Amino acid sequence: EMDKTYNFALQLDKDLCTGCGVCAEGCTFGAITMGDWPEVDPYACRLCGTCVSECPVGAWSMADGQDVHEAADASGIFVLAETAHGGIAPVTFELLGKAAELSAKSGQQVEAILAGYGVAPLADELIAYGAGRVHLLESEALSSYIEENYATAVADVVRSLRPAILLVGATVKGRGLSARLASMLHTGLTADCTDLDIDTETGLLRQIRPAFGGNLMATIVTPDHRPQMASVHPGVMKAPARDGSRSGETVRHDISTMRQDERISLLGETVKAVCGNNLADSRIVVGIGRGVKSHETVDAISTWAESVGAAVAGSRAAVECGLVDASRQVGQTGQTISPDLYIAVGISGQIQHTAAITGAKKIIAVNPDRNAPIFSMADYGWVATAEEALPVLTNIRF
Ligand code: FAD
Repeated sequence: EMDKTYNFALQLDKDLCTGCGVCAEGCTFGAITMGDWPEVDPYACRLCGTCVSECPVGAWSMADGQDVHEAADASGIFVLAETAHGGIAPVTFELLGKAAELSAKSGQQVEAILAGYGVAPLADELIAYGAGRVHLLESEALSSYIEENYATAVADVVRSLRPAILLVGATVKGRGLSARLASMLHTGLTADCTDLDIDTETGLLRQIRPAFGGNLMATIVTPDHRPQMASVHPGVMKAPARDGSRSGETVRHDISTMRQDERISLLGETVKAVCGNNLADSRIVVGIGRGVKSHETVDAISTWAESVGAAVAGSRAAVECGLVDASRQVGQTGQTISPDLYIAVGISGQIQHTAAITGAKKIIAVNPDRNAPIFSMADYGWVATAEEALPVLTNIRF
């Protein structure tokens, strides 16, 4: 039978449990059901501890930080490598670049964790981008991306290596994996950092990110628990130049005894083709906002963009209206871009959007509202509706 509490902080001592059901009745989240024994649903449980305090015989217990390692014995700036299309995802190189800066300030070594199946040849790439040591976790169990299995493998190696810092890309994969890891390792995680630094007095990682809807920048530290975990969007940090002459060591860890999560199996994978030019690489990006209203206008802009080698992006509002695919969202919860030219059409210019386009060399804004905040950061403003601008815009050639 499957052990539902595997890797789970809440534990039941069946020798003590009398099956009275007080825990199931008292559970605020309805996470406990009574069979012969109380059974906890780990997805409903919030680890609030009510069952632990209410159990009359002390049968429930909460693992309190046995995975936490103290600041004193933690060292190393680790980057969790991500693979994509048979190579290393660019965000990993960007994180290695930042890790090198942090290393220069703290004197700690830069290391990388590379997990997967058949990924060993990629270790040298990580070394070429600055990893002094690569920890290789290879197993057939990691041949398809099942987050639970990756988290188990990485958490085990982090527990034994005790890094001071663990950086993860805030990609679709990295977001889920980093949150799961932080929970398993009983440590904190600052998601979507826009900068990272070392506090020279305390040696702590300063995790900097927008807070309160972007109205202020917060600096967050993890004083007690290790590793200090932070995730960073692709495109926010600068990748160092590749240097094939760098030397480093690859350490293979035996994960053959890793326990796979049997609740999950991969039934199939479908590759979704996203049309248009790649957002990250395009020198010209056209951002579509809610003001663009109709699919016809979006199609006309997209056809023109394709013909001039530009990529189409969207604000979150445009994504939510179904005008643009979610994979093309630019902003705090989307991608960060630094094209030569960003043309914002029908975008009001809220901070959650503009925070991700500050790297654009030139910004042109098209909006009928002359007071729209986008105009305060645009290099050129065009007070017009998308429909008015369309015939002129689609005649432009670069
Ligand atoms: P609106 O703000 O509705 O602006 C539409 C604009 O279109 C207006 O300025 C209007 O004058 C103009 N307009 C009207 N008619 C026309 C016309 N005919 N032609 C042309 N223009 C016209 N947003 C993001 O974009 N990316 C993110 O990643 C993101 N993350 C977020 C995270 C959090 C935690 C929160 C709270 C918000 C986030 N947002 C994000 C949402 C953000 O706050 C804004 O709501 C969003 O950016 C607004 O999108 P918009 O400019 O397209 O729409």
